[in-house]
Amino acid sequence: MKRNLANHFLINYVLMFIISTMIAVFAFLLFGFAGDVISKTLAKNNYNAKSLMKDNYKDIDIISVINNGGGVQVVNHNHEVIFSAGLNTISKNKLSVSEFTDFLIMSKSSGIPFSYSIEYNVKEQFWLVVTFPTSIRIEFDIAHNKDFSSVDTQGVVGVIVAVILFYLILLAISTVIYSKLTSLSIINPLKKLCNSARRLKDGDYSSRVNLYLENEFGELEDIFNEMAQQIEQEMSLRKQSEENRKRLILDISHDLKNPLTSIVGYAEFCYNRPDLSKQEHCTYMKVIYENSLRANNLITDLFELSKMESSEYVISKTRIDICEYMREEIGAFISTFDEAEFTYDFDIPEKEIFAEIDAKQMNRVFQNLVANTVKYNPKGIKVVISLLEQHDEIIIIFKDNGIGISPETAKDIFLPFVRVDSARNSQTGGTGLGLAIALKIIVAHGGNINLITDENCGCEFIINIPKI
Ligand code: ADP
Repeated sequence: MKRNLANHFLINYVLMFIISTMIAVFAFLLFGFAGDVISKTLAKNNYNAKSLMKDNYKDIDIISVINNGGGVQVVNHNHEVIFSAGLNTISKNKLSVSEFTDFLIMSKSSGIPFSYSIEYNVKEQFWLVVTFPTSIRIEFDIAHNKDFSSVDTQGVVGVIVAVILFYLILLAISTVIYSKLTSLSIINPLKKLCNSARRLKDGDYSSRVNLYLENEFGELEDIFNEMAQQIEQEMSLRKQSEENRKRLILDISHDLKNPLTSIVGYAEFCYNRPDLSKQEHCTYMKVIYENSLRANNLITDLFELSKMESSEYVISKTRIDICEYMREEIGAFISTFDEAEFTYDFDIPEKEIFAEIDAKQMNRVFQNLVANTVKYNPKGIKVVISLLEQHDEIIIIFKDNGIGISPETAKDIFLPFVRVDSARNSQTGGTGLGLAIALKIIVAHGGNINLITDENCGCEFIINIPKI
């Protein structure tokens, strides 16, 4: 079950409630204890009617009662006050039954400024009424008689204030504990998130955060980790493309350096040697021409590739019958294959299959595949070109049984300047850009090109383009 922050806080509140209730109960017990202490000091509890009772009311010790500001009355069975000493709150000397009953009820009620203790002597049939003025009474309301104060009021107030203060201190401590608990559940995950974000900012893209929470912080953790992963991927792509760019510049400079050095060297030689025979001159001029051609091819291919990589590159596609188009292309290749002494086989369906293609660009792809087959393979190999439909795709297979390419090189063969053997390429005049350009063209058609190959097992280029 998902535990969100609201639940977390709820649990904290419940905890807080339990703690404060416990504190309140403790305070209540303290009040009870304080009440006991206070009641022991009160005269009304020390001199009550029961403890003073004598069969002969004249023997009753009234001195202590009077000294503490109280009074004693004796009422006989006819409700006549037959004896009174000290404080007297009975209004008449003779009471009716109802008046005496009212007096008895009143004596038990709370909130009156007197404290009564009444006992009946069964043997002598009289009531002994002991009255003290209420100086202070700890109940839920306080009755105070300023004129008859029998206790140290300030002391009692001091005890109450001390208890309240103690209660407040406990409440403050528990509030601090509560706030610490609550803040820990927020601050700890925030700290972890901050640390990971800081590491990410400082360039550690592997930075992740583990909070093991299922609340909103858990959600934030997931978002942070996803974001960090995306940044890490972006950064590794950027690094990769930066490395590719550096490699490309290195390859270009290397590939241009060789023909240009020859051109400069032979041109200088011819310029400084006017005595060269016509034949020698011709030989050196041929070298200059071939190297110029090579440099020119490289620059032309590079220009084309960079044009294709720009966002402005668009191909102009038209709807054509791809089978008819392939038949025309193959017709043009036959003489090349014958010259190379290859055998060949073509399998193009005798029907119309339509695709949207830029014929000129697509021609560049096939010319490159044909040129490569001729350039890199010995006489006598066989070339098979076939076309088939599969779902909403057209598949064109260009296969030879020549020397093939090792899997390590084949996996990068569509990258610029990737060649099997540079030495062999300088003889054949390859730039290492042909397949990179072919891939760009096929991708611009919404398709893809793949190579199945191995050393001495030939090459099988598989082109997929969408059918319409
Ligand atoms: P290049 O201009 O060097 O031909 P490509 O990108 O067209 O560049 O080809 C890359 C490399 O792949 C070539 O240098 C060659 O070594 C290898 N290659 C391409 N096609 C074939 C093939 N049919 N048989 C053997 N090797 C091939």
